[in-house]
Amino acid sequence: MHLHCSFRTGGPVRVLALPQDEESLVALCTYLSSVGVTPCLLGNGTNVVFPDEGNDSLFVISTGDLQSVRLLPEGVISASAGLPLSRLAAFACENGLAGLEFASGIPGSVGGGILMNAGAYGGELKDVVVSVRFLDLSTGKIWEYSGSECAFGYRHSCFQTGGKVILQASFRLQPGDKAEISARMKDLNQRRRDKQPLDLPSCGSAFRRPEGYFAAALIDECGLKGVSVGGAQVSEKHAGFIVNTGHATTSDLRNLLALVRSEVYRQKHIDLQPEIILLPTP
Ligand SMILES: Cc1cc2nc3c(=O)[nH]c(=O)nc-3n(C[C@H](O)[C@H](O)[C@H](O)COP(=O)(O)OP(=O)(O)OC[C@H]3O[C@@H](n4cnc5c(N)ncnc54)[C@H](O)[C@@H]3O)c2cc1C
Repeated sequence: MHLHCSFRTGGPVRVLALPQDEESLVALCTYLSSVGVTPCLLGNGTNVVFPDEGNDSLFVISTGDLQSVRLLPEGVISASAGLPLSRLAAFACENGLAGLEFASGIPGSVGGGILMNAGAYGGELKDVVVSVRFLDLSTGKIWEYSGSECAFGYRHSCFQTGGKVILQASFRLQPGDKAEISARMKDLNQRRRDKQPLDLPSCGSAFRRPEGYFAAALIDECGLKGVSVGGAQVSEKHAGFIVNTGHATTSDLRNLLALVRSEVYRQKHIDLQPEIILLPTP
């Protein structure tokens, strides 16, 4: 699974399904659910890491029509779960719609972005989500939640409790000038390139932002920049990122997360919570 994970680690999984449209995705997940198998949905694999030993579960990646996007009346865009957020933001810009500039440099998909309430530079998906359509695995029914029913919070949504397959989401945006929208996106992406270690594999911010602090500043102040376990290293460029310097394993990442967490707790009495989702070995 290292090929499907932006940290580039992880052993094999038993089954990887690549449905091409919503009908196949729903049929597959409904069938699996009826025989007692819970599928694990993947987006772009930019916030999940797979165990080195492999995993016996069944993983699903949305491809084909599940990456489609279309413009609806009144500044609303409908996007399927597998669509990359960068393409969603570019589509909004092409149609002169503002509000998703912050998302253009987030490497996740619509599904993963909704589940995490992805955000950057003062914007979060919750600010623009009108509704989310999903398959409820416990009933086999398709439901739609309004933005307020999604219980969005900082890197949180109701979809994190599991049992729901995000199929599609709608976003309401504001009319804007295409050139200005594009300039804002370019500026934010340049800021990312200047500050973040985008030349090395990572999962973005390794830890959630603790209330009242910045994880990167705490890690830096504890002298942990550049500290490594095997091939996993606290980035020299941005202490909030853990990068794969070439030969990292998931176990290196897990051990480095634990080391950083215990050192920050020892020095600052703040218990950092990982933002990266480490999938368990069944
Ligand atoms: C270089 C870099 C920079 C980043 N910058 C940011 C940033 O600025 N802001 C930010 O918020 N994040 C950032 N991230 C983290 C990551 O991109 C986001 O968390 C993103 O939302 C994850 O989307 P994904 O499609 O990769 O999800 P995945 O990692 O594939 O999955 C994440 C979770 O969502 C679930 N999931 C995915 N699709 C579905 C679906 N259709 N239905 C149900 N569940 C689903 C998965 O099971 C998993 O639990 C960054 C990551 C990297 C590597």
